[in-house]
Order: sequence, then C-alpha cells, then structure tokens
Amino acid sequence: MNAFSAPKGTYDLLPPNSAEFLAVREALAAPLLRAGYGYVETPGFEHAELFARGVGESTDIVSKEMYTLSTRGGTELALRPEGTASVLRAALQGSLHRGALPVKLWYSGSYYRYERPQAGRYRHFSQVGAEALGAEDPALDAELLILADDAYRSLGLRGFRLLLNSLGDRECRPVYRAALQDFLRQLDLDEDTRHRIDINPLRVLDDKRESVREQLAGAPLVGDYLCESCKTYHEQVRELVRAAGVTFEDDPRLVRGLDYYTRTTFEFVHDGLGSQSAIGGGGRYDGLSEMIGGPALPSVGWALGVDRTVLALRKEDVELDLSTTPRVFAVPLGDEARRVLFGVVTALRREGIAADFAYGGKGLKNAMKSANRSGAAVALVLGERDLAEGLVQLKDLATGEQSPVPLDRVATALRGKVG
Ligand code: AMP
Repeated sequence: MNAFSAPKGTYDLLPPNSAEFLAVREALAAPLLRAGYGYVETPGFEHAELFARGVGESTDIVSKEMYTLSTRGGTELALRPEGTASVLRAALQGSLHRGALPVKLWYSGSYYRYERPQAGRYRHFSQVGAEALGAEDPALDAELLILADDAYRSLGLRGFRLLLNSLGDRECRPVYRAALQDFLRQLDLDEDTRHRIDINPLRVLDDKRESVREQLAGAPLVGDYLCESCKTYHEQVRELVRAAGVTFEDDPRLVRGLDYYTRTTFEFVHDGLGSQSAIGGGGRYDGLSEMIGGPALPSVGWALGVDRTVLALRKEDVELDLSTTPRVFAVPLGDEARRVLFGVVTALRREGIAADFAYGGKGLKNAMKSANRSGAAVALVLGERDLAEGLVQLKDLATGEQSPVPLDRVATALRGKVG
C-alpha cells in the first residue's frame, strides 16, 4: 500500500518552518490583546444555513466552495469557510450583546474552502480575526485598521498596501445597486455572470477575467452614490487612520466577495504574492446580525490570512526572531551519568531554561552530532569521572570551549551563557 499524503490543497506545518507560522499567528493577535479584545473559539463546523444566510447564497464561498456534510440524523453542517458569521452567532447565543457594547472579540483558527489550489490559495488555511460588535463609531473602524497595520509592521513586513472603500448603507447602497445593474445589463457577458447581475451585482466588479474587466471600465462607482451620512462616516474613518500614521489608498472599485459588508470595506494586499495578493481584509457589516436572526447590531471586523502573511514575509526575506530551539543540549556518557543528567535537564526546564537531551543511548560522537544539529548554544557533557567529582562539562558549541561547572550550580552558570 502506498503511504498516505495530505489531501490536495492542504499542507502540513512541520518544524522548523512551523515555528515561523506560529510566530506570525501570535504577532497578528498581539495588538488585539493590547486593545481589549477577548478570545473567542467556535466549533470548526456550523449549521450550513448559518453561512448560507450570513455569508450569502450568491457568493462563491457558499455556492461553490463550502464543504458540507449531512449527519446520520439528517442535519446539514458545513466546515466553516470564514469566521465572522460563527463569531456573531456565538456572541448572540451567549447574550454578549446584552452587556456593554461594543463587544470586542478575537479568534484564530482553521478555515475550509473548496477552491482551486495554487500558491497562496489552499483548501485549508488559517486566519486571525477580530470583530467589534454593537457600535457604529468611525473610531472603531479606524482602530481595527490601525491594529492590522501595526500587526503586519510588528513582523517587519513592509511591502503591503491598505486599500480602502465605502460600500454605503441600506439607504444609498440600493440606489447604487440599481444603477450598477442597469450598466451591467448592457454588457456582453456569459449566462452565469448575467445571473449574478440579478442576485449580487457588486460581485461582478470583482471579476478577474480580462474580457470582463475591459467592459467594466465605465461602471458607476459606489463613491458617487454615497448618502451624506455614509460620506461623513467614511471621511472620519480616513482622518483617524491618517492621523495614526497609517497610509492607505482609496480604491473606489474595491468590493469584497461576501454579501454582508456595508460602509467601510478594506483589503491589505502584498505586491509580491502574484494573483493571491490579499493578505487580509474586512469591513463593516451592519446588517449581518439581523440576517442571522439577531437584533440590529452594527459591527466591524477583519480576518488576516496567516498562510499568506508567512509567504509575504518570505518574499521580503524577513527573518523572524524565533527562539524556539532549546539553548542547552545534554549529553550523558554511561548509565549513572544518564540518570543524573536527566534529572539536571528536568530541573533546568522547571527553572525556565529550555533544554534537550541525547535520547536513544547514543555514543559520544553521535550524541555530539545531535547537539550540534539541535541549534543549541551549549552542550552539557557528563562523563563518569566528572560525575565522581560532582562536575559537568559546559561546552560552548560555537567556539568549542569547555569548562567544568559544579553539578548543583548548572542553572547559574548557564544563565550567564544562554540568558
Ligand atoms: P476573506 O474571508 O476571503 O476576506 O479572507 C481573509 C483573508 O484570508 C484573505 O485576505 C487571505 O489572506 C486569507 N485567505 C482567504 N482564502 C484563503 C485561501 N483559500 N488560502 C489561503 N488564504 C486564504
């Protein structure tokens, strides 16, 4: 039988690269922790209907890309294709919206979309997300934009751009939608796209095919249709973001694949990633709560792609400071030394010094090879003679220098060497 491999469109995170992934995930979340966002975790699957209503039946995500399954009892479930609908569902179910508003939540996890795999586009991918529920305040939109920008910058990422637009609200968006439909109906489009004009015309603006793009040149822009309150709101968001030193580009054509966005809409793109350039995105979704059966709860949020952020960092040759390998590697020679040194390693770990051990009963040569490969700074070598004298050899793996240290003073001696 052939060995198994991971399903198409997925990949495994293995050391040493997995450390980079983990560090990115943590760095993307760190600014949220400093801004009062509480951690939320929801199941990996939900009732399929939640996404049909919350993301939109007409979106690619729901109509083509969702992994659905029926339980034995006949319940229709779906692996989550995105985070917002689940987080809002959980907040409503837990009555968080009855307390102080806004409710600010962050999450991190796996998402699933049956997409055509390519570089940067997977069927299983990771996002860090944030949602601020229950407040209509330009400062909240600005806060999220600033936090995302801070997160990318904290990693050392530089070659990204923030694209910003407003999609209007329930007052002005329908007027724009009708104007856009009138325009689109005059174009030469295939049947699928014509159907899309009826159900989700803004999505047509997102079409990547050149034959469609050419025809879209004169399409009406949502910015020309914004009502006064949407215009004022958007101007305030822009001012606050600008005042924070975050640069952005107004992109009057930016729409997003999900149905629920209103007003503020944005995307972070990285120019080194080819066609899958979006490293994060989000916006305001004032109507979503009502769409999934909740009360009016104007909200704003984003999701940042961990996989693509890792790819972007590699593209820019950014090396993260990953202090994940133990700094100390212990090499025992003989059974008694083995027992004693294992105890030393345990004690070091309990004192907060990361240490590893030459397992598998290797001889000195192989054990030292393991020590050198491990990336540790220092080897602790314990032979029988040292043991009899209550000493252990502390060997600097970079210089080869070696000095004896009393067995009961190892932690102190190491602190000077490995911090
Ligand atoms: P979206 O929910 O589509 O707005 O996605 C938010 C972010 O998640 C995107 O900007 C990407 O960085 C990331 N993302 C979305 N879909 C995928 C995918 N199939 N593979 C990898 N990353 C993805």
